[in-house]
Amino acid sequence: MKSDIEISRSARLLPITDVAAQLGLEHQDIEPYGHYKAKVRIDSLNKLQDRPDGKLVLVSAITPTPFGEGKTVNTIGLTMGLSMLGRKAISCIRQPSMGPVFGIKGGAAGGGYAQVVPMEDFNLHLTGDIHAITSAHNLASAALDSRLYHEEREGYEAFEQRSGLTALKIDKNRIVWKRVVDHNDRAMRTITVGQPGNTTGENMNGVPREEGFDITVASELMAILALTDSIQDMRRRIGKAILAYDLDGKPVTAEDLKVAGAMTAIMKDAINPTLMQNLEGGACLIHAGPFANIAHGNSSILADRLALKMGDYVVTEAGFGSDMGLEKFCNIKAHYSGKTPDVAVLVCSLRGLKSHSGLFDLKPGKPLDKGMIEPNQEALEKGVCNLQWHINNVKRYGLPVVVAVNRFPDDTKEELNWLLEQAREFGATGAAISDTFRFGGEGAMAVASEVEQACSTQPAQFQRLYPLDTGLQDKITTLATKGYGAATVNFSEQAAQQIAELEAQGYGNLPVCMAKTPLSISHDPMLKGAPVGFDFPVREVRVSAGAGFVYILCGQIMTMPGLGSKPGYMNIDIDDNGHITGLS
Ligand code: ADP
Ligand code: MG
Repeated sequence: MKSDIEISRSARLLPITDVAAQLGLEHQDIEPYGHYKAKVRIDSLNKLQDRPDGKLVLVSAITPTPFGEGKTVNTIGLTMGLSMLGRKAISCIRQPSMGPVFGIKGGAAGGGYAQVVPMEDFNLHLTGDIHAITSAHNLASAALDSRLYHEEREGYEAFEQRSGLTALKIDKNRIVWKRVVDHNDRAMRTITVGQPGNTTGENMNGVPREEGFDITVASELMAILALTDSIQDMRRRIGKAILAYDLDGKPVTAEDLKVAGAMTAIMKDAINPTLMQNLEGGACLIHAGPFANIAHGNSSILADRLALKMGDYVVTEAGFGSDMGLEKFCNIKAHYSGKTPDVAVLVCSLRGLKSHSGLFDLKPGKPLDKGMIEPNQEALEKGVCNLQWHINNVKRYGLPVVVAVNRFPDDTKEELNWLLEQAREFGATGAAISDTFRFGGEGAMAVASEVEQACSTQPAQFQRLYPLDTGLQDKITTLATKGYGAATVNFSEQAAQQIAELEAQGYGNLPVCMAKTPLSISHDPMLKGAPVGFDFPVREVRVSAGAGFVYILCGQIMTMPGLGSKPGYMNIDIDDNGHITGLS
């Protein structure tokens, strides 16, 4: 089979204006970026307002291996499969960070014959939204350090008299807004800014302090972009973002620094989703890409809203397993959008389930064991409990669930059929094999039919996991025990203190966003299958006040990845015709 980039390169693409026209978008609704990408202006929602919404299909997965289960492949594939059934279908997916593209995971445009194209545009800068976020975010950092410098240098009173501004009295030891860059750059995790350098006399380089960098997609601005529903709302949310605390322990926001307006101005084009096409000419909206641990791991509310007005079916992907992205879709994103899914698709693979058998060494950084790739009924039977757990988890939210078994080259018919039967026995509304990686839309038609049928025979009875008006401790406990199956929850002293502080500051009614490993349903990446009886640790509790959630750290969460010794960028080059090679 051809490589992903070969398939992408040999595709015959439609001009993006044709893709837009298929959706009923007119000249004034789009802003083309070259021939194959266009921003869709969110004000086109005004004229679509009276149309009914299409069906919302949420693609999730079992607990994945670090190599992914194939959610993006199946999100794109299912959209093509639904189109083959004669439905107007649109995918809504996240824009990838360049960190993983040049690091370990490679691109995120799908794969095989289920891709968004041109994949190199998708995987690299696209239409510049991530750069805009980097710039807006770092403007706030510059504003903060500059304000700290001026206030400390002059003294608060003199500063107030000269500038006419109120001194913010920023506590330089409680600055929570790190700088960002969209690369895996571990050397930047902890740095010192404001060093005097080798000049003599007064230090004109700012106030020396410890600082650090996160990857851009971990920025709160990315979560805000994904959760906002208008430019005014985005402006308000950015204003509410907490950058630091003052010497009295009170939050210092972007509004307090008077930088929120300028930040929003930098992001004014980023608020419009980007339209691209899949390999069969269908539409795909790409918008936002928040982290799936410290943030909610779903593409934007605005892209979904636009797509739902234009399509019969909107297929969107939620990051990681159903304990992560789907949970956050249901408890965070749906809270702000008011739109809940009609059906969930659980992507799983034989190899993924075998990895839950407990029979293999799954140390981080190791490639998949041969025993997971080859036929191995024992491993499959031991690991299938993970699928059962995720089916039950989706049903907890009142959603019909279709299991899509993502077929890999070495998979046998016997094991695939056995798994389909198991899925139905576990209570899945429907189950089918997906061969979309090899056959595009045709390979996804079986899953597409199951999705259609689930939507028409079993209307969703959505329910969220916890009410919002209980205390933070209650919400976290419900998520850990009912949401993951923990027996007990252990709040650190620090976490208990932070919860009290956040509630006193008025953040107690926000939804909670768990930053935990995606490699287990529990907090411990080595607990595979469907673990029970564990004690769930809550180490720290922080707020993303602009995005609108409280996030919980239950272990070390990496917000700036590093590069391995043989990173993806080593394969990437450009040929004599200016074509990019080696992207996967
Ligand atoms: P996820 O979105 O769940 O993280 P992706 O859809 O990005 O996963 O797929 C992860 C990787 O596996 C990609 O490189 C993709 O091309 C590859 N992949 C997915 N499904 C298949 C398949 N059926 N056969 C071969 N490779 C696949
Ligand atoms: Mg994906």
